Amino acid sequence: MKTILVTGGTGFIGSNLCERLLRQGNKVICLDNNYTGSVENIKELKRHPNFRFVLHDIIEPIKIRAHIDQIYNLACPASPAAYKGSHSILTTKTCTIGMINVLELAIKNDATILQASTSEIYGDPLQHPQKETYWGNVNPIGDRACYDEGKRCAETLMFDYYRHKNAKIKIARIFNAYGPKMNKNDGRVISNFIVQALTNKDIVIYGSGEQTRSFCYVDDLISGLIKLMNSSKSVTGPINIGNPEELTIKKLAEKVVRMTKTTSKIVSKHSLRDADDPNRRKPDITIAKAKLKWNPTTSLSEGLKSTIDYFKTVI
Ligand code: UDP
Repeated sequence: MKTILVTGGTGFIGSNLCERLLRQGNKVICLDNNYTGSVENIKELKRHPNFRFVLHDIIEPIKIRAHIDQIYNLACPASPAAYKGSHSILTTKTCTIGMINVLELAIKNDATILQASTSEIYGDPLQHPQKETYWGNVNPIGDRACYDEGKRCAETLMFDYYRHKNAKIKIARIFNAYGPKMNKNDGRVISNFIVQALTNKDIVIYGSGEQTRSFCYVDDLISGLIKLMNSSKSVTGPINIGNPEELTIKKLAEKVVRMTKTTSKIVSKHSLRDADDPNRRKPDITIAKAKLKWNPTTSLSEGLKSTIDYFKTVI
């Protein structure tokens, strides 16, 4: 039995990961400041004897008495709606000071640390689909920079701790995850569209809707993260974890309308699209397939169905 720390454990991905790790027979310490996460997400888990919740912000030094074998560092606001604006400085601190605190804890415990990095580090990519070797096209002073540059710096810190302090590191670059336990007010496109559809409100596309994304169902993502964490020491990443099924935001809106049978209208608001919103995004997952033997198996239709069913229970 391993003792595993999940920072950001009350968030959407974190809480799904805690649940899977407990089911696999591990001890799980879930740590969060609950800024975007919610204790609602871990309500069931709290009853489990191998589960512990710690209310803490990783930008403060972390003291945990138990010996930790593995750390998943998921702590960070991840929706543009949550990290842009007034929380941007906190976001950068989480990715830098917070990353250092979590790395120091990993060193102290000789634990393997997996960093949840992101497709946002590619910015508005000039290469399509995106391979791990691509260095990205990021605006360092834009609205999204706190997250994009923050996550880039977090990768830098991971590699400097690997090179100079023998940290055991793994970096996953996550592409647009979705699924049950997303916060209905999260602000991301899938939760917004489903909530708008289920409440018969207008479905609001930011811009023309010609921009694309490739959405990865949370169960697939978690299988990929766990495979990466338990891969051989030489596999540090970064490795793209995503589903290459790419579609336009307009097609996504139409799909949500069909699947929910809503009377909502699809409308476009150009003023709501931010200047650095990437135009196209699709992961190249050749490395994940080869090194992790991982492949997403949930189609967008299947994943959306369970996500819609989940949102029906919470709105
Ligand atoms: N988007 C949209 N309507 C919304 C929320 C987002 O049209 O209610 C668009 C957004 O402009 C972007 C895409 O959907 O082009 C994905 O946005 P999201 O915030 O989900 O993720 P990210 O931009 O980080 O990929």
